[in-house]
Amino acid sequence: MIAVLKPGTSVRQRDNLILWFKSQGLDVHISEGQTHTVLGIIGDTSRVDIDLLQSLDIVDSAKRVSETYKLANRKFHPQDTVVPVGPYKIGGGNFQIIAGPCSVESEEQIIEVAQAVKKSGAALLRGGAFKPRTSPYDFQGLRAAGIEYLLEAKKITGMPIVSEIMNAEHLPLFEDVDVIQVGARNMQNFELLKALGKTQKPVLLKRGLASTLKELLMSAEYIMAGGNENVILCERGIRTYEPSTRNTLDLSAVPLLREMTHLPIIVDPSHATGQARLVQPMAMAAAAAGADGLMIEVHNDPMHALCDGAQSLTPEQFDELARKVMRIREVVAG
Ligand code: PEP
Ligand code: MN
Repeated sequence: MIAVLKPGTSVRQRDNLILWFKSQGLDVHISEGQTHTVLGIIGDTSRVDIDLLQSLDIVDSAKRVSETYKLANRKFHPQDTVVPVGPYKIGGGNFQIIAGPCSVESEEQIIEVAQAVKKSGAALLRGGAFKPRTSPYDFQGLRAAGIEYLLEAKKITGMPIVSEIMNAEHLPLFEDVDVIQVGARNMQNFELLKALGKTQKPVLLKRGLASTLKELLMSAEYIMAGGNENVILCERGIRTYEPSTRNTLDLSAVPLLREMTHLPIIVDPSHATGQARLVQPMAMAAAAAGADGLMIEVHNDPMHALCDGAQSLTPEQFDELARKVMRIREVVAG
């Protein structure tokens, strides 16, 4: 249920109303807008007398929210959420590119890629240290050493870093990682989501291979329900019957999620397509669709990458992508 308060409602009046909800065993989430305050009421609100609520002097309107995601719901929080990451912001009109290799392979590799993508305008550096691979015989990532090399690249370039976590037990290793990624395969690892909810770290939550947008938002809700509202959603393609691409990029997810939620939405055209030559056109399309950012795999030597070489751009290809995307952004913002 949401209650929109009239402009001019005092803090005391607001707090009295909140106490009234709390006395009925409910939780209240406050969203302060420029003119209106929106109270999001969480819990079993079936016994709240909505007519009584609507009749109060300070209440502009009240309505029940049928969606099961509440904290992630735009109705609860009409303004866009902006997630701060180091000196950057993501969401609410702030667009950022995250770039880097699928996996951290060596200290030299991650530093070389970081320096190149930074020069082309990437704000954040990505690199997998713990890799979720379909085959147990494939490269599993450098694990703790991978995080160390990312931190070294962060120190040298100043770029905030993004890396995937697969197990909540590894959280201490992620202390200096700026954005923790939850990969598609772990989108519904609810214990992991709960653990991340107890931190204040920005979480990049990727859509599961066969997950609906509602399921994605319910996973975001798990993180937010724990008290961490710094969630960035990522559309990375879903599995369909089309075999020509690794996944099918569901670009309508961007404007649809924009209506459903206030959280920032970024797009990963690398995992969505699986083919380097398709990454630039889909990145441009994602920017045109209004995404708040992109995540692009870039490798200094894609032919010899230990993971996802076929979809990795060279630094030169990434430079061209970044320039074209920025031109699209000018059109979208203008
Ligand atoms: C990744 O970003 O490296 C990754 C494994 O992506 P996804 O979880 O979307 O497959
Ligand atoms: Mn990858």
